[in-house]
Amino acid sequence: MNLNDAHIHVGQFNDIYTSPQEVVDFMQQAEVEKYAVMSTTIWTENYEKVLHEMREITELAPGNAMPVLWLSPKMLLKGKLDMMLHSGIKWYALKVHGNHPWSINGVNECAIIAEELQLPLILHTGEFPHCEPNVYRVIIQSHPQEAFVLAHCRPVDQAIAIMQECPNCYGDTAYTPFPDVREIIEAGLEDRILFGTDYPMQKIHSPQGNSLADYKAKVHDDWKVMSDEQWEKVSHLNFNRLYKL
Ligand SMILES: [Zn+2]
Repeated sequence: MNLNDAHIHVGQFNDIYTSPQEVVDFMQQAEVEKYAVMSTTIWTENYEKVLHEMREITELAPGNAMPVLWLSPKMLLKGKLDMMLHSGIKWYALKVHGNHPWSINGVNECAIIAEELQLPLILHTGEFPHCEPNVYRVIIQSHPQEAFVLAHCRPVDQAIAIMQECPNCYGDTAYTPFPDVREIIEAGLEDRILFGTDYPMQKIHSPQGNSLADYKAKVHDDWKVMSDEQWEKVSHLNFNRLYKL
């Protein structure tokens, strides 16, 4: 089975640290081939540490670990973007999280940067009204050549509406409950939905849980709401097209 994961993390999250080695070992065990990886260490604004983690993970899993540059308002404000871009790391996408204090103009600035770099822009959605898909609609519409990924697709009705309106808009299934994944598939969006898990957030949210079993259950849950042909697209073909692999 070919399986790519469009949404995983490495690094510091609150008091839990997930090392590059741990991520690579886990992805091997879970039989994931390629994975778009974002460092939660960005919440500490320690850019050198983020770069160190990305260097390490790409050395451990060359061609499989695909670094995503998670932007923060402070990074841009402090003029640190160039350092990140010229670090020698091959970035595959940029990411914005609404829990950073972005203005809508700030997010639009990130879209302009992503478009110039010809990299997809991943937008965290859900949890709070200020990062729901509708907030991003005008930005997605005003950059028709730029590919956007609505991480989590929450709330799903908004995500579906925008994906239907905008052919440049994708979504991932990280933390998306399977009834929502089914809705997205039934809405005819099988060509623009990417399998994702948010690993290792399961471990962080339920330390007693068995991450590998949880991971395999997520694969099973997403797969069971679609045909095998649709799963081929969601599990890796859409990912390969988005990232021009
Ligand atoms: Zn995430």
